[in-house]
Amino acid sequence: MVSACLAGLATTHDGKAKPHPKVLELLREGRAVLVCPEQLGGLPTPRAEAEIESGGSGGKVLSAEAKVLDVDGRDVTAQYLRGAREALRASRLSGAKAAILKARSPSCGNGQIYNGSFSGTLVDGKGVTAALLEKEGLQVLSEEDLAD
Ligand code: SF4
Repeated sequence: MVSACLAGLATTHDGKAKPHPKVLELLREGRAVLVCPEQLGGLPTPRAEAEIESGGSGGKVLSAEAKVLDVDGRDVTAQYLRGAREALRASRLSGAKAAILKARSPSCGNGQIYNGSFSGTLVDGKGVTAALLEKEGLQVLSEEDLAD
């Protein structure tokens, strides 16, 4: 399974695509199913930028110990959780064993995410979907883990 933005769809919060050659190759070979958890969760594109609140992580959002807030202060936790569950459903329907997800996203990030201050500061942690997929046994990678 791959992040839709890495597969060339303009799904990011600011309506952009982030195509990655290896992900495009997997898609052309019919070896990848694409998902955008934020769209699957019911958010529009473009949409307000969001981050997991300070001190939180994808795992803490899953256990209701942290929220996802957009830059205007709106609580979008429910949409992020719904998107993560739908991505998990897609992985089960397709039989995916691994996910290549966009680095640093509050949904898809794996390893580092922004710290909730909307200042571009990174902290160690995963996005909500990455955390759920890993918890459910998928191997989670980012595009930055792919060899050239
Ligand atoms: Fe959608 Fe994930 Fe890409 Fe964000 S990083 S646009 S949630 S696929």
